[in-house]
Amino acid sequence: MTFKALVVDKNEEGKTSAAVKEIDENQLPDGNVTVAVEYSTLNYKDGLCVGPGGGLVKDYPHVPGIDFAGTVDESSDEWYKPGDKVVLTGWRVGEVWWGGYAQKASVKGEWLVPLPDGLTTRDAMAVGTAGFTAMLAVMALEDHGLKPENGPVLVTGAAGGVGSVAVAILANLGYEVHAVTGRESTWDYLKSLGARAIVPRDDVAETIKRPLEKEVWAGAIDAVGGDMLARILGQMKYGCSVATIGLAGGANLPASVIPFILRGVNLLGIDSVMRPYDDRVRAWQRIAKDLPLDKLHGMIHPATLEDLPGLGKDILKGQVKGRVVVDVN
Ligand code: NDP
Repeated sequence: MTFKALVVDKNEEGKTSAAVKEIDENQLPDGNVTVAVEYSTLNYKDGLCVGPGGGLVKDYPHVPGIDFAGTVDESSDEWYKPGDKVVLTGWRVGEVWWGGYAQKASVKGEWLVPLPDGLTTRDAMAVGTAGFTAMLAVMALEDHGLKPENGPVLVTGAAGGVGSVAVAILANLGYEVHAVTGRESTWDYLKSLGARAIVPRDDVAETIKRPLEKEVWAGAIDAVGGDMLARILGQMKYGCSVATIGLAGGANLPASVIPFILRGVNLLGIDSVMRPYDDRVRAWQRIAKDLPLDKLHGMIHPATLEDLPGLGKDILKGQVKGRVVVDVN
């Protein structure tokens, strides 16, 4: 039996190339649950893994795709049986283990979560790792005292995957969301997701000149890092928190400790990859409850396996808006 997959290979000069191929099922990795994949998606990391690898992929040929949703085909795991609908994000699947850009995936049962009630497999991949991580960030801010009456909440990289879902969830929960974007063409889109105000990227992109500025934000979700995160730390209200998710603008943090020690600002690190099972289930349940499906559907760009090499380049250049949903069949 064969199935279709996007396969990335590396030549002797170390150059990678990606193409859709037929693969024999006995080449699948040695998981205890085989899933008939229905949908996958495109995240920033997928852009790296479809292209030059970014140090994430160890062995070639490789099947990327850091997340997927589908139906269990075969299982020797006591929790799952054929016919169960499941979702996978994280655990370095799509990096060091074959991932979701294929009609079949073989993984460990402990990495899966049941598809939450109220979502289809397509919805789950419209959310994907990006949206799941946005929900983890909202939950972390809430756990540190964020409430809608505390004031405006900033979302950076807002028109990207993490940012779009964060804007939609926060707005639905009653927060006054201010969305940072570098693309004027996305302003109407961000307002349609519930952003109350747009902050042009240049307004917060400059290197910090003073460690403390006027106190503005009651909370922030940052997908950008670098100078922007450093700048935002100095604009937080007393005792408030920033959830740091990503590095679309850089991995450095050219900041000072002043916002932490004079304003009691908290910097909350968000990792989605190694999240324990109970947290995952709690986050997916919150997504099903707090992310309006009409807003989610408004973020979707449908794609096929064949589209992925081009889309992978686009996401690395920050040119993808919202969420790409890949129908692998
Ligand atoms: P996207 O590419 O969809 O979104 C990133 C957005 O950041 C872009 O759309 C753009 O938004 C903005 N941006 C891009 N380049 C720059 C730049 N040089 N300076 C400022 N802003 C920039 O990616 P995702 O949303 O999928 O991921 C965002 C980040 O989060 C990535 O770094 C990713 O690796 C990370 N991530 C981390 C996870 C975790 O577990 N911690 C899980 C998922 C993602 P705009 O045009 O609106 O300005």
